[in-house]
Amino acid sequence: MKLEKLSFEKIVEDLHDGLYFVNKDRVITYWNKAAEHISGFSADEVIGKSCSDNVLTHVDNDGNYLCSGMCPLAATISDGKPREANVYMHHRDGHRIPVSVRVSTLTDDKGSITGGIELFTDISNQAANELRVKELEKLALLDNLTQLPNRNYIEKEFHSRFEELKRYKIPFGVLFIDIDHFKQFNDIYGHDTGDDVLKFVAKTFTTNSRPFDVYGRWGGEEFIGIIRNINYHDFKIIGNRVRYLVENSYIIHKNIKLNVTISIGATLVQESDTMESLIKRADELLYKSKANGRNCLTIG
Ligand code: GH3
Ligand code: MG
Ligand code: MG
Repeated sequence: MKLEKLSFEKIVEDLHDGLYFVNKDRVITYWNKAAEHISGFSADEVIGKSCSDNVLTHVDNDGNYLCSGMCPLAATISDGKPREANVYMHHRDGHRIPVSVRVSTLTDDKGSITGGIELFTDISNQAANELRVKELEKLALLDNLTQLPNRNYIEKEFHSRFEELKRYKIPFGVLFIDIDHFKQFNDIYGHDTGDDVLKFVAKTFTTNSRPFDVYGRWGGEEFIGIIRNINYHDFKIIGNRVRYLVENSYIIHKNIKLNVTISIGATLVQESDTMESLIKRADELLYKSKANGRNCLTIG
């Protein structure tokens, strides 16, 4: 059966996966509804722009910008080979979203490459996060600005994790996170822009966390991540990934790209710990990250 052009367009438009086309110069020529939903950018905002033009600016697992050199779409347009990769896409609100991308070529009737297609799937646990936000709101455990669990919730979470540690010997780690030079940021760009930053930093945490980890707002521009069932090696990777994802997140304010960095103190729970001793240790390690020049993680 041959599909009519019109029904093709409808299928493509209604896919659950984001889909976009670019021409040979990587200028976006098509953007479907799911692409709008996942990225926050409407078709009108992106069609005609280069995908590296502050639109998607994918970064890989190690924080490398793919637009300058290792873009899978550019590589595929150049050699014709399809590719797959897991990357972090820029959302219009500033945060980074993990997506799985598959790229292939667009060809004309003669088989010559005319551009590329990227199909991308949101692999964050966004739906679960949205449900959690609703639950927390009902129980007054939500921080309204960032939509993260509030300090009360984090304290309850610590009690559960200590219970789990006692009963089943399941270890966990704490990331104590503080935005660098945030007072100065507010002074320069204003408190409302500072609030937008707090929101996208928070969203970067939740969008990139494993479903059983919890990030909450501890106060002001300080956050706590409770990372469950983790060993030292993976804990360090998670902490550093969150750090460079924030570093590579940004909002556009009056045509300027604004970003912040975070410093982190990371520590794994010890048998003799209480919530207070654990947080105190994480806080001291955070202080070391600040003293070492910021935008870094100190683990101990
Ligand atoms: P450091 O790198 O040492 O952490 O420097 P800093 O400026 O971030 O540290 P400091 O603790 O002196 O300042 C924290 C700032 O965070 C002060 C305050 O203006 C800002 N802040 C705290 N809560 C909020 C908030 O809800 N919204 C905004 N916009 N700013 C906030
Ligand atoms: Mg602070
Ligand atoms: Mg700070």
